[in-house]
Amino acid sequence: MIEFARIVTISDQTKTLTLKSGRDKSVRAHHPRLFSGAVKSIDGGPSDGDVVDVQDNKGEWLARGVLNRLSPIVVRLLTWRRDEVVDEAFWRARVAAAIARRNVDPLLAETDARRLVFGESDGLPGVIADEYAGQIVVEFSALCALRVRDIIVSALQESTGAARVLERIDEERLRSELGNNMRLVRAQQRESASGPASVQIREGGLRFLVDLSSGQKTGFYLDQRDNRRRVAAYCRGARVLNSFSFSGAFSVYALAAGAQHVTNVDSSQDALALARTNAELNGVSEVTHVVADALEDLRHRRTAGELFDVVVLDPPKYAHTPSQLERATRAYKDLNRAALALVRPGGVLATFSCSGVVDAALFQQSIAVAALEAHRNVRIVERLSQASDHPVLLSYPESEYLKGVVARVE
Ligand code: SAH
Repeated sequence: MIEFARIVTISDQTKTLTLKSGRDKSVRAHHPRLFSGAVKSIDGGPSDGDVVDVQDNKGEWLARGVLNRLSPIVVRLLTWRRDEVVDEAFWRARVAAAIARRNVDPLLAETDARRLVFGESDGLPGVIADEYAGQIVVEFSALCALRVRDIIVSALQESTGAARVLERIDEERLRSELGNNMRLVRAQQRESASGPASVQIREGGLRFLVDLSSGQKTGFYLDQRDNRRRVAAYCRGARVLNSFSFSGAFSVYALAAGAQHVTNVDSSQDALALARTNAELNGVSEVTHVVADALEDLRHRRTAGELFDVVVLDPPKYAHTPSQLERATRAYKDLNRAALALVRPGGVLATFSCSGVVDAALFQQSIAVAALEAHRNVRIVERLSQASDHPVLLSYPESEYLKGVVARVE
């Protein structure tokens, strides 16, 4: 039974996980996830959620992390330093360090909306924390993080002076982490203080309304911050189609940069309601909003003979696991093919994938097939990635998930 009381996880040398022979490579390379197939034995009677020491087949100490036998990720590794104890001070220091990195980031100087903690990339598996104008939304997606949620919340508050911390649970991911204990978690969703359901943030000299209560992700796609500015540079005087627009952030940037007109397409009515507000907030009016399935909408416009100077394509995650790769690649190909057909000769396609398992090469390949099928000559002019507050940890290349391509279409 998993204990959710306030805890301080203190490393206990007697709780030890031993790896199978030859299965120590990823741990030695500081990869933060240990998969169950590598485990030879677990000794000392640890409960799930306890800190364990990880050793190789010959008994050499390698690392320390939190055990969870219910998950295929059997240990979330936290430290490779034997003298580093996983106690309350450890977690507080990790949160403080993550925030300190953002505070010195020159790319974040112009905004009050930033990702403070990006999971493994900040040495905090299962924790995502975003700050929106002094309000923090924190999302827990692993047992390892849930067990120290009080500490994480208090550390976030302490390091930022935030007025309010809203806690969210990633139910889908936690289900595979907690099994039957999921019930316990739902009862524990909280916020540290009451406050508004939405808040206005500043980004790139513009204003956006972020829905804190029911927003997607944690309310705003912070990872696209730099890309909105880069894509807007192609939009002066342009007629733009923003497919999968969410709250229309790419569109507001484009109009502020002198776009003639933008069409937002999204399947979510709520997202488009926010998009309307965001256009108003920034005094831009040349926007049309269309609630539709994006692929159907693209194909419909093709039949109607419509053309755009710039098409932005930012679909949700299509592949969550490697087994979904083939289907996802086909979906990207179909979508990009339909989008390419709408770009006027000499125009621009800005296309994205946020599926971590689809790497840049595979994404490019699916656009290449789309170009062939659409009979268009396409040249990549810019490659885009995730914003600096979503850093890529070198020992965890999977933390690089957002890929974008700006292409000139003949
Ligand atoms: N570009 C946006 C983020 C897009 S997120 C930004 O910068 O803020 C993906 C969006 O796709 C979500 O708003 C979701 O509602 C929408 N979506 C998901 N499936 C869809 C579909 N089949 N057709 C249209 N929109 C869809």
